[in-house]
Parts: sequence; structure tokens; C-alpha cells
Amino acid sequence: MTSYVYKFADGNKDLKDLLGGKGANLAEMTNLGLPVPPGFTITTEACKAYLAEGHEPESLAAEVTEHLAEVERTMGRRLGDAGDPLLLSVRSGAKFSMPGMMDTVLNIGLNDDTVRGLAAQSSDERFAMDSYRRLLQMFGATVMGVDAEEFHSKLDARKAAKGTTADTDLDVDDLTALVATYKQVIAEQTGREFPQDAREQLDLAVRAVFESWNGDRAVLYRRQERIPQDLGTAVNVQVMVFGNQGMTSGSGVGFTRDPASGERGVYGDYLQNAQGEDVVAGIRNTVSLHDLADLDKASYDELLGIMDKLERHYRDMCDIEFTIERGKLWMLQTRVGKRTAEAAFRIAVHMVDDGLISKDEAVLRVSGGQLAQLMFPRFDERAERSLLATGMNASPGAAVGKVVFDSDTAVEWADRGEDVILVRKETNPDDLKGMVVARGILTSRGGKTSHAAVVARGMGRTCVCGAEALDVDVKARQFRVRDGGIVHEGDLISIDGTTGEVFAGAVPVSSSLVVRHFEGEEVHEDLVDAVARVMAYADTIRRLHVRANADTPEDAARARRFGAQGIGLCRTEHMFLGERRELVEHLIVAEDEAAQEAALAALLPLQRQDFVEILEAMDGLPVTIRLIDPPLHEFLPDYTELSVKVAIEDVRGKHDKRQLRLLEAVKRLHEQNPMLGLRGVRLGIVIPGLFLMQARAILEAAAIRIKAGGDAWPEIMIPLVASKRELDLVRNEVLGVAQEVQEREGVSIPFRIGTMIELPRAAMTAGQIAESAEFFSFGTNDLTQMTWGFSRDDVEASFFTNYLDNNIFQVSPFESLDTEGVGALVRKAVIDGRATRPDLHLGVCGEHGGDPDSIHFFHDAGLDYVSCSPFRVPVARLEAARATLGGGYAAST
Ligand code: ADP
Ligand code: MG
Ligand code: MG
Repeated sequence: MTSYVYKFADGNKDLKDLLGGKGANLAEMTNLGLPVPPGFTITTEACKAYLAEGHEPESLAAEVTEHLAEVERTMGRRLGDAGDPLLLSVRSGAKFSMPGMMDTVLNIGLNDDTVRGLAAQSSDERFAMDSYRRLLQMFGATVMGVDAEEFHSKLDARKAAKGTTADTDLDVDDLTALVATYKQVIAEQTGREFPQDAREQLDLAVRAVFESWNGDRAVLYRRQERIPQDLGTAVNVQVMVFGNQGMTSGSGVGFTRDPASGERGVYGDYLQNAQGEDVVAGIRNTVSLHDLADLDKASYDELLGIMDKLERHYRDMCDIEFTIERGKLWMLQTRVGKRTAEAAFRIAVHMVDDGLISKDEAVLRVSGGQLAQLMFPRFDERAERSLLATGMNASPGAAVGKVVFDSDTAVEWADRGEDVILVRKETNPDDLKGMVVARGILTSRGGKTSHAAVVARGMGRTCVCGAEALDVDVKARQFRVRDGGIVHEGDLISIDGTTGEVFAGAVPVSSSLVVRHFEGEEVHEDLVDAVARVMAYADTIRRLHVRANADTPEDAARARRFGAQGIGLCRTEHMFLGERRELVEHLIVAEDEAAQEAALAALLPLQRQDFVEILEAMDGLPVTIRLIDPPLHEFLPDYTELSVKVAIEDVRGKHDKRQLRLLEAVKRLHEQNPMLGLRGVRLGIVIPGLFLMQARAILEAAAIRIKAGGDAWPEIMIPLVASKRELDLVRNEVLGVAQEVQEREGVSIPFRIGTMIELPRAAMTAGQIAESAEFFSFGTNDLTQMTWGFSRDDVEASFFTNYLDNNIFQVSPFESLDTEGVGALVRKAVIDGRATRPDLHLGVCGEHGGDPDSIHFFHDAGLDYVSCSPFRVPVARLEAARATLGGGYAAST
């Protein structure tokens, strides 16, 4: 038979699944010999059974009775005994600590009779009444569902009548009156009397904890924190100790180190003559934990000894809750303490220095998410601010600048030294110039994977997207906020990409010292030292290499400073924007081969120069260059706009032949589903000249670098391949060019030709494709789109929230790889590809390459490298190490 109840002595800290965090750690402390009031834990299994069946499991009541009897024997008191009552606390405690659930009911067992017994036993009538009114308050609110405010207002009224604000000033008569009032409030609000039967109080409280698991706030919290919804909570039933028995009693909370900075030395608050919640509720002013030394030296010394013992035992920073009852210290809770990102890094290296943990463990004690937090500039927390709107936190950071509404204005203003925020309804590739020069990007439409969001993240640019409360009117050069206020072009705003908030005016920003360190600046600061040390540990541990996605020499250089070991994705389509766009137009509308050749010949030297610079920035490291990928219409004018223009000119009797041909081409290239149309390798087959020009530019650039004494390692990557035959057609031609260039230049170029795996068919036939590919790079964005069959740009905004609500996925598969579906294709392609070609080089490029959870998957799947935006490179280095050590993604806290 399953037992649903464990006494503290039978548990330990590793039983969190069954006993919850609080129960497991109470058990651990009990077994460490620390002074813990006795008690028992009702398991998460009991909770799950209750929630599934709608009633308590049958054997539960008897098990509780049995354990309760044991506690009563130990204490020599009985629950509900009018002469010398045993009082209990009922405390919820899930595997992960969860605000939003019912927490605790203290003083269970008090009623109109036992309160007199308690008064007599303690010789303190005031204390007994105070405890009773607390029970009514907590039980009324959390078990019976009375609005807590009802009690607070009565308490405040009583205090006001006494002319005081401190509840300690209330005397027995006040408290007796409050008890009567509270009982009345409960009866009025719920139509039921407060239960006088002590065991009934206990059972109802336990049930309320079970039910709080499915409370709205708890469900929401779990969804946000990605905590599974089916874990259930445990319930701890524990003998009460009393911090409210006068000035030699009190309650406190503490940390074994400073949880904000990570500095060594205990840290905490203490409140005399108080029970539990008073300390955090801010009812009275607490004193620093250190002041306890003056109030009660013996308890203070004992507590410090215990804190030290706990830290050594858990080998991590712990937080604690304790109560002192008439000079006797009791430990009520401990756990590995939550800490800021900053504290996490400091604590990790301090603990290595203290010999408490190994370097490997230090790496597991921090996370990529925490590192990312330290890398973004933030708004000064103390600064005043006025909120205009909240959108999606698409790309973190804090940016301040003048509002501009289009790319050209952004460039113009930035050129004269202004900081600008580019505000658009949504962005498209033409906005790129503006996005590059802007401090931040704000859109009123689109989700976290909209163009604005993806590009901004790629550039490490702060971005808030989908701020729907904003009505952006580009023509009028202004946007309206929901309350009717108007922000004009040139007005200052501040956007917080970490929270999604948009503020009026300039909120002061503090820049990240950690980034300045990565950028190569000498920064003397202990946090930076801590980060540097952890990164050094990580680099010796990780198996995965980390490359960057970089399309420009500047990005490549930065990526290198951030520790990238090459470029995993250099997109070439951006190189065809701006003035070069016209050359691409020429190519597309070319009437004959000669015109086509001429257009290509004009593009070649420009492309070659691009590649020379990038190869130079990445000298000695591999650079994977992807041949042109998007559908050609992206380089042409918009169909409707162009036809209107042509029509107007027609009316005026003007006939621009080139315009007409262009319109013709736009019409011809128009596709219903461009992302599934003529793009990637298909272009290379249909218009081979473009691909070959690019291949030639790459190889000639490499030759130039090599002849100049450089060390160029170009990798030519063919996108959107579905079959080996497609790859072969392009590859053979590229090989021809390579031979020609090498012979002509008299150099041997160490190039590779490979392919993206981004179509399910490619993954399924990877064994064949590997015959012709020296490397695979998983294009997980497209692979996700193609596997799920939905278009990222459309679905995120339209129905993803619904899908998340329905638990179809816990997180967008574009943010974190869908390991079951898309991941299965990746695994298959890895296995089949390597079976064909054991030295096949495997990597991933795209958003997922910088996502911690996905990085752990790619490590497990056996890839050689991940590639991500330059800004994510340190995060990826760290997570790659954590993956090697087998740590789960979530930081230890
Ligand atoms: P939370 O999960 O919100 O921290 P707890 O179960 O830890 O809730 O209870 C909150 C506070 O109630 C504790 O910090 C402690 O001060 C008090 N408390 C809980 N159990 C007892 C007990 N057995 N005796 C005295 N005080 C208790
Ligand atoms: Mg607690
Ligand atoms: Mg793709």
C-alpha cells in the first residue's frame, strides 16, 4: 500500500518530487540534528489523487491520525485538548516554490476552549488571543475564501481607535474583541461558522492546500515559469512554535550570503514578538539579522553556526526561516536560495575559492539566461519613469532615443549624431538600414518572431514589438497612445526590451561592464572577474564549438571578440540591398544572356570585396557562407505600387520600357507561397549564374586572402536542398569554378561545400545527401516551419497564444526547439549523415543556436557546433559547457 504521509525523520532533501521542496528540506534539517519542530508531510501523490478523484484518498485520514498521534506523544500535548492544546501549522510546499498558491495556516487547533488552555499554559492571555485572531484571519482568508482585506480593515480600525499603528500595542481586550469580529466576518461572508473542531480545521486546511494547486494564479505562474502542471503539492503539518510570546521571542528570515550581490556574510531580517508572516508583511519595522546579536547573543551564535552548517551541507547559498520562542531557536525552513544573476556568478567563484565546489559545479551554478541579463544595458532602477505602453519583450536591453518613423530619417538623424528609436507598425527588409543605426526598435504589430524581433535579436538591438496600444501613423509622423497622448517624431522615448515597456522621455541607462569586458576593454570589477573566470572554466569543459551568425565584417569582428570560433551563417541576401538592388533588378529583367552577364559582372567585385573583409575578420577560422536564399521578388518593387506607377505614367503617355519589363518580372515572379516557391537551391538551378557568381566571389576572395598571407577557410553552403540531385547540380558547377579559380590564381583553397538541412525531406534522405555534402547546417527555423506546416510570420500573432493556452506547446517552437518532432528529424539526419560520411561536419544556425534549452539538445544530438548571433556567443559558450556537464537548463536556483 502506498503511504501518503511521511514523518520528517523519514524524508531527505532528494525527495522533492514526493515531499515538495519545503518538506524535503525540513526532513533534511531534522536528520542533520537541527532544532526543527516535529511534524509530517502529506505527499504530492495524495494531492494528485485528491485532484484526480475529487476527494481525499481513502487511507489518508487514518495515516494522518497515526502520525498525529505520534507527534502528540512526542510533545505530550493533544490537538483540541482544552487544557494543554497542541497547535499545528499547515504549510503548502510544492517541488518548486510557487507564489500564487495557498501558503500557510498557523495556530490550527485553537478554538473558544483551547485558547483558554493556551493562555493558562503560557501564562500569557494576550499571546493566546493574538494567536487565535491570527488563526481566524489566515484560516478565514485561505481556507474559507474570505477577502483578506476584510480582516485587515477591522484590524486597522482597532489600531486606529487605539491611536497606534503597531499591532503589538493591542491588548487582551482589543484582541478578544477582534476575535469576535473576525468570527462574525467569516459567518457573514461565507454563511458558515468558523469550525471549532480542531481536527476538522486540520483536514479543511489540508484540502485547501490541495485545491490551491489549481488556483488561477498558480496555473498562470507555472505556465510562465514552464513548471509542469501535473506535479501536485505536498502539505507539511508541523508543531507550532511561537515567536509572539513577548520580546524574548521573534521570527526572522535570512540568507547565508547576500542574495543581491553575492557577497560573503549572512544577511537577513528579524522581528521581535512576531509570528511568521509579520516579518515579510512589513507590519512593523524589522531589524537587521546582525542586531539579533545584541538582543539574544546565544540564539544569534547558534543561528550563525547553523547557517554555516547548512551552507557546507548544501554546498550552496541557502535561505532560512526561523523562530525564537522565549530564547529557544527553532528552524522552520531552508532551501537553496534564489539570487540575482550578479550574485550567482560571485557566489559560484567564491565557493570555488572556499573549496566548497568544483569548477564544473561553478559552471552549473549559473545559467546562460543569467549571463544574458548581465550583458544588457538596463534602466537605472531608481529613476522615475512614465509608462506609455507595454509590448512584447522581443530583444532585451534598454534604449533611449528620439522617435523616427522610417529608415531614411533614422540614418539621416543618426549620421548627425542623434540617438534614434525606429518606430514602425512592423518592419521589413528595407528597414534594415534604419534598424542598424537605431538604438532600439519599437513596433505596434508582430510577435517575438516577427521580422523586427528576429533581426533585432540578431543585431543585439533592443526591441519591443507588438505594442498594440500604440497607434502608429507614419504619414503624420506621430503615434498615439491609448490614453490619447501623442508622441511626435523627434520626441524622446525609452524602451525596455527586457520587460517590453515603453516610457516617455529619457530614462537613465547604465551600460554593461560585462559586455565591455567581452569587447576587450580592461574592466577591473569583481563581477567581471567572476564572469571571466566562469567563462574560462566553461571553455575548457564544453564539447560543442560556438560560431556566430554574421553578415558583415563588423559583426564578424565582434563575434570573434565574444569568443566565436568561426561564422556558422553568413547570409548574402543583405548584400543585395541598397544601391546593389538595382543590379539585381537588371539581372532579373535582363532580356538576353549578355545583359545577364553584364549584371553579374557588375555584382561580382562588390561581392568579392564583402567576402574578403569577412574572411579577414575571421582569419584562421571557418566561415560558412550561404548562397542567396530568399525568393527574388524580395528584391523587386511591390507589385501593386509598381502597377499603379506604370498605370499613371501610361495615362500621361509615358512608356518607360524598363519599368514595364520590371512589372512583367514582378508579375512573373509573384507566388502564392513565396517561402515555398522559387528560392534557395531552386534559384541556383533555374538561374545558375547568380549562384556561380557568388561561389566565384567567395573563392576569389579566399585566393586574395591567401595570397596576402591570410588563412581563409570558406565553406559554401547551399540552402533549401531537398534532394541529393539538387545539391549535385549546383555542387558540380561550383567545383568547376573552384578548379578554375585555383588554377588561375595558383593557390589551393581549403574550401568545403555543404548544405542546409531545413526541409523534412532533406532530413529523411540525409544519408544520400551526405554523399555530396561535406557539412550539414541545420536551419531549424525553416525546418520548424516546414515540419509543423505553419508560417512563422503569420501564426505567431494569430493563434500561438491559443496554442500555448491549450498546452499544445509550452513554449513557441521557434524560440526553443521542438525536440520531439523537429528534434527527431535532426537526430535522424545526424545518424544517417554520419553513417555515410563519418567525418561529416554538423552544426546549426538560426535562432535556436543561441537558445539554452536547444543548445542542450544539440549537444546531446552530437552536433559539432552551434551558431548564433554574436551577442549570444558567450551565452552559448556557457550553455554548451553546462550541457557537457549534463546540467539541466534551468539554473540551480
Ligand atoms: P511560505 O512558503 O510562504 O514561506 P511557510 O510555510 O514557510 O510559507 O510559512 C510562513 C511562515 O509561517 C514561516 O516563515 C514561519 O515564520 C511561520 N511558520 C510556519 N510553520 C510554523 C511553525 N510550525 N511554527 C511557527 N511558525 C511557523
Ligand atoms: Mg517559508
Ligand atoms: Mg532557411
